[in-house]
Amino acid sequence: MKEKFRQFMIGRYGTDGLNQFLSIASIVMLLISLLTRVTLFTWVGVVLLVLCYYRSLSRNIGKRTEENYKYYAIKDRVDNKFRGLKDQWANRKIYHYYRCPKCRQKLRVPRGRGRIQISCPRCGTQFIKKS
Ligand SMILES: [Zn+2]
Repeated sequence: MKEKFRQFMIGRYGTDGLNQFLSIASIVMLLISLLTRVTLFTWVGVVLLVLCYYRSLSRNIGKRTEENYKYYAIKDRVDNKFRGLKDQWANRKIYHYYRCPKCRQKLRVPRGRGRIQISCPRCGTQFIKKS
């Protein structure tokens, strides 16, 4: 049986980070559907599971690898954003966070200095805020 499976998987893509994500997401969706009895979640869960199997059995390895790269690029961006928000929350008593009105760069200023002029290190715009 094991040998048959190995033969079957030759030349196929197998599993990767994106597939792990898909399988976990589908399990979560199916659990939510069990708890809430909303059929939409069942469908989303099944679709994710099918997608996961489709990808691991696919013979188009180049395309699947590319998808996995894209997945990691998005995951990195989300992780970074989340980490930034976590830091911001942890430091909320020490720093005030503002966004540059011109280039949207995030700026951090120490609290308790009254009205201060902030200059954006990226585009040089100056603006006045309470710290
Ligand atoms: Zn700026």
